[in-house]
Amino acid sequence: MQTTLRHPSSSLAPVLLGVAYFVMAWLALSWSRFDGGLAFIWGANALLMADLLTSKIGHWPRSLLACGVASAVATALFGMGPLVALPMAAINLLEALIVALVCRRLAPDRKFAGSMWPLFVFILALVGPANVVTGFGAAMVASALTPVSLGTAWLHWYSGHVLGALTCTPILMMFMQGELRRWFSQTPLRRKLEASALLVLFAVAAAYVFYVARFPMLFALLLPMVVIVFRVGNLGAAASVLILAAIGGTATVNGHGPLYMIPVGSLGERMQFFQLFLACAFLLTMPIAAELNSRRRLFQMLQESEARYRAIAEHSGDVVLNISVDGVIEYASPAAAEQIGCAPELLIGQDAANLVDPEDRAPVSAAIGRALAQPGDVQTVEFRPFVSAGGSEWCEMVARAVVDEHGMPTGVVSTIRDMSRHKARQQALQQVAALDSLTGADTRRAFLEKLDEEIGRVRRGGRACLLLIDIDHFKAVNDCHGHGAGDRVLAGFVERLRPGLRGVDSIGRLGGEEFAILLSGTDIERSSMICERLREMVDTHPVRLESGEAIRVTFSAGLVSLNAQDGRDAILEAADKALYRAKHSGRNCLRLAA
Ligand code: GH3
Ligand code: MG
Ligand code: MG
Repeated sequence: MQTTLRHPSSSLAPVLLGVAYFVMAWLALSWSRFDGGLAFIWGANALLMADLLTSKIGHWPRSLLACGVASAVATALFGMGPLVALPMAAINLLEALIVALVCRRLAPDRKFAGSMWPLFVFILALVGPANVVTGFGAAMVASALTPVSLGTAWLHWYSGHVLGALTCTPILMMFMQGELRRWFSQTPLRRKLEASALLVLFAVAAAYVFYVARFPMLFALLLPMVVIVFRVGNLGAAASVLILAAIGGTATVNGHGPLYMIPVGSLGERMQFFQLFLACAFLLTMPIAAELNSRRRLFQMLQESEARYRAIAEHSGDVVLNISVDGVIEYASPAAAEQIGCAPELLIGQDAANLVDPEDRAPVSAAIGRALAQPGDVQTVEFRPFVSAGGSEWCEMVARAVVDEHGMPTGVVSTIRDMSRHKARQQALQQVAALDSLTGADTRRAFLEKLDEEIGRVRRGGRACLLLIDIDHFKAVNDCHGHGAGDRVLAGFVERLRPGLRGVDSIGRLGGEEFAILLSGTDIERSSMICERLREMVDTHPVRLESGEAIRVTFSAGLVSLNAQDGRDAILEAADKALYRAKHSGRNCLRLAA
């Protein structure tokens, strides 16, 4: 029945559903209309609810139609007659529809067996709107047609429908969602045998309570039910409720069992009392099963994530460290041997600060402190290792807090990466960026930074001079020989200047064919001499092009001595003015700033 009913394309599905509904309605009406009014027990709607809750909304109309017809025929034949068959069918459908709509809206997951929330929503919908509303409709019909009063009829409907749906719907849903099939295919034989043995023992216990016991021992059955929930899970809970319903129901209908130890009461009342017991047993076991299930899922997810984390940690080239809130290493990945030079086992139990150069311990501790104080945030810190196997000079630590179920940090997980190569590359890139690509002189920015540093040194008592140089009539070089030749001349010009400079001096290209030389630790006289030497060198060593042609250039220069008062702009302006005068004095000469 399960696969045929659940197959969405099967046109037989609604027919089978209708037939099953009819059989359940027929049984309830023939056995449980104890006072000639409404049935005391009503499990048929549980079937419709389970179907609606486990199928797409598009399939609802045909299920509702099938069950509506089944309900109407059953009422006409075995219930209150054809006159009220249609209204009673409508009221039945309305109950199932209200429950299904509320569950769909508030618990779209609808996995009753797996979690508490859908179960809670289902119970609320059932005991609240669905049966309060429909109970009045049904009671009005029943009280109009039979001698039963409105209040009594409402109570019979309410208890019969609530208890019937509570006991049967989740169990039917589990079957419809294929849980039984999954359990059979996925459970190991040993567990299957254990489950069977427990259920057989439970059946024996139930038979004892209902047929043999001389005292009302209903409560004694709750204990094995809880054991079954823990060992077998929600299917075990469902199976034990079904076993109890079968054995207890048969016994009660036939006049046996603890419900007959109550001195007064009709068969209907005893059956409803038994149903109340069933619902309580169900309400006891299902939430436990749901909670166990969600914990099992959580545990499984945790295991998977732990396995994933281990795989990453074990195979990563970075060192992964788990550090406690006190800063003690609790786990170190295998990469520690290569990167830190220490076997991971030996690191465990050590203070993480021992891995860090004493000078960098404060920022590292601060980063770990921040990670612990702001769980969820990632903290990054660079440090020098205290000892290093691979000669690492710089490491980067990325740290993040690990929190417990209350969100409180229990430690830090961190990855440590060797940054030395990265740093070296960064430095090389910075150096390249600081050089002019054509001439190899410092770029304007890099040179001005050096000038600022030199000004600082002069303010602390040092001395230095700045020489501003501009090639004479350079435009003519471009015009006569082309831009490429001009470029070659610019590069050759700097090459000719270099031998005349010392290591401490800097040469920068301030723009176009304008250069500046910073003569560190030199006074104005010595700088003038150096400048003269440079001028002569450039003048007497023309730049030779690939064509073999030699191009002779000269330059004009302005020289200024750095002093403790003037800033960078003033110094450059003074040098520029001197250069301007040199140009106006016929070029190829040096002028000193005023
Ligand atoms: P002055 O003696 O007055 O300095 O004359 P000049 O021709 O050197 O001065 P001007 O400022 O008129 O011209 C500078 C020229 O330098 C103009 C420009 O095309 C050239 N120049 C600037 N940068 C480059 C470069 O990177 N490559 C080449 N080939 N030429 C450049
Ligand atoms: Mg020029
Ligand atoms: Mg110029």
